[in-house]
Amino acid sequence: MIIVLRPSATDRDIQKLVVRIRGLGLSPHVSRGKERTVIPVIGDDRVLATVPLLSYPFVEKVLPVLAPFKLVSREFHPKTTLVRARGLLVGSRRVAIIAGPCSVEDERMIIRIAKAVKRAGATALRGGAFKPRSSPYSFQGLGEEGLRYLAAAREATGLAVVTEVLDTRDVGLVARYADVLQVGARNMQNFELLKEVGMSNRPVLLKRGLSATLKELLQAAEYVVSRGTDQVMVCERGIRAVEDYTRNTFDLNAIPVLKELTHLPVVADPSQATGKWSYVHPMSLAAVAAGADALIVEVHDRPEDAKSDGEQSILPVRFAALVKAVRKVARSVGRTA
Ligand code: PEP
Ligand code: MN
Repeated sequence: MIIVLRPSATDRDIQKLVVRIRGLGLSPHVSRGKERTVIPVIGDDRVLATVPLLSYPFVEKVLPVLAPFKLVSREFHPKTTLVRARGLLVGSRRVAIIAGPCSVEDERMIIRIAKAVKRAGATALRGGAFKPRSSPYSFQGLGEEGLRYLAAAREATGLAVVTEVLDTRDVGLVARYADVLQVGARNMQNFELLKEVGMSNRPVLLKRGLSATLKELLQAAEYVVSRGTDQVMVCERGIRAVEDYTRNTFDLNAIPVLKELTHLPVVADPSQATGKWSYVHPMSLAAVAAGADALIVEVHDRPEDAKSDGEQSILPVRFAALVKAVRKVARSVGRTA
């Protein structure tokens, strides 16, 4: 439930209400805006319904939150949240571009690709050290060794490092090396992991699950944010639909819908969404036109030898062309890149 106060509400009024709500065992989160104060209340709405809130003259209205998420909703926080990690800034007018290989394969390779994507205009480096592979026989990533190589690539380029964490037991370890923790599609509803990354002091890039609705994605984001951080990005990376010509179906609708529902910045991953390198360029442009705050793109300089996702990885030269095209599209929708 969200309690909207009249502009005339005083600090004493707010305090009175907060004490009453706490007395019911619920948690009020007072949010003071320029125009008015709103108080989203976390807990069982039925308990709050026993209080005649509108009898307080300083209460303007009480909104039952139909969406089962509050802290991540735009109603709660109308302005888009800025997520920061070193030089990476997501949620501003400027579209951020995160790029790099699917997996870290060795030190020279990640440094080489990091330099190439930086030169082309990337603002952060991606690369998996812990890989969630569909088959247990596929390359599972280099683990901590891969994290060390990512840190070396950051050292060489200054780019912020985005990498996935698969397991609650590794959150501390990954947070020591990475600037942003990625929670992958397959872990979107790993609630223990969501709580743990929410307490890691690192921004989180949360991917939409393979068959998750946007409501479920935002509920997952709510888990992270409820741990006390607002540094969360939500990412559309394609879903399972009837079409199987492409690896997944890129849900372009998700971008404007998420922009409307949440203040968290929205990232698009055209690489996992299409599964084929030749579709990454057009779908990146579509995502930016639709309002994405950032792209995360797989880039590899020898895709034919890649240990994972070579088919969907673009060459650095194509990535450089993509960045140029993204800048044009960004400008046409009132943004930069
Ligand atoms: C990836 O980014 O390489 C990845 C495995 O992503 P997802 O979790 O979206 O499949
Ligand atoms: Mn991948």
